[in-house]
Amino acid sequence: MVSLTGVHKAYGRHDRRVTALDGVDLSFRAGTFTAVMGPSGSGKSTLLQCAAGLDRVDAGQVLLDGTPLHQLSERALTELRREQMGFVFQSFNLIPALTARQNVELPLRLSGRAIDAAAIDRGLAEVGLAERGGHRPAELSGGQQQRVAIARALVTRPKVVFADEPTGALDSRTAREVLALLRDVVEQHGQTVIMVTHDPVAASYAQRAVFLADGRVVGDLAEPTAEAVALRLTALEPAGQESRAAANGAATNGAQPC
Ligand code: ADP
Ligand code: MG
Repeated sequence: MVSLTGVHKAYGRHDRRVTALDGVDLSFRAGTFTAVMGPSGSGKSTLLQCAAGLDRVDAGQVLLDGTPLHQLSERALTELRREQMGFVFQSFNLIPALTARQNVELPLRLSGRAIDAAAIDRGLAEVGLAERGGHRPAELSGGQQQRVAIARALVTRPKVVFADEPTGALDSRTAREVLALLRDVVEQHGQTVIMVTHDPVAASYAQRAVFLADGRVVGDLAEPTAEAVALRLTALEPAGQESRAAANGAATNGAQPC
């Protein structure tokens, strides 16, 4: 479904050059839920941005269902993203002036598709917000806002949903609801979810956890448990941060920027 081969990505020039991805080979099978983990600065967000074609790679290639993203024009890439990808961010990124329902309809409007009111109703119901369609983001809790964002990401029935720290701004109970929802998406609709997180509990909802350190893939766990993930992460944290990582190990929180 999504594959990265020999992907390199650096930011800045000359002495300020930072290598964010340093030869990444990874593929994500259709219909699977993967957590991408690693210390802050390890390249997780860059990986997601490159996989989604939001950022161009310096070397290597990214294929979405066999289509090489680097060969597409900006316009074709935008269209591909609108048709086949959904995005969920830590900060929800809803449009404040629009109601929940209008936010969910937005991707359809942007891609010029017809708006099927019954389908929007189903989408809102699926995330448990059937009664909240008329509310604006400010009138909803954080968890509800993130559920609107998930409904919005799913409304075009994308092949892949990219989520960057989707639970980073939520309390642990709400986070679990959102994670269960993402897992259901995979199980019920066969969509592919790639989720960046630094939270071992969040990763345990996925079927696979991939670990990054310094822009490289350094581990790959099937059926990750929170304990196994926490242990692996602790080993990856730079010296001195280990105790903090261990202490945070099984906690679902962390509004810290990653
Ligand atoms: P993570 O999401 O794992 O915290 P990122 O992918 O955001 O890591 O960042 C990887 C590295 O690339 C970090 O060293 C970060 O400072 C750097 N980086 C990320 N985005 C930019 C940018 N737009 N400009 C310059 N450096 C960046
Ligand atoms: Mg990040």
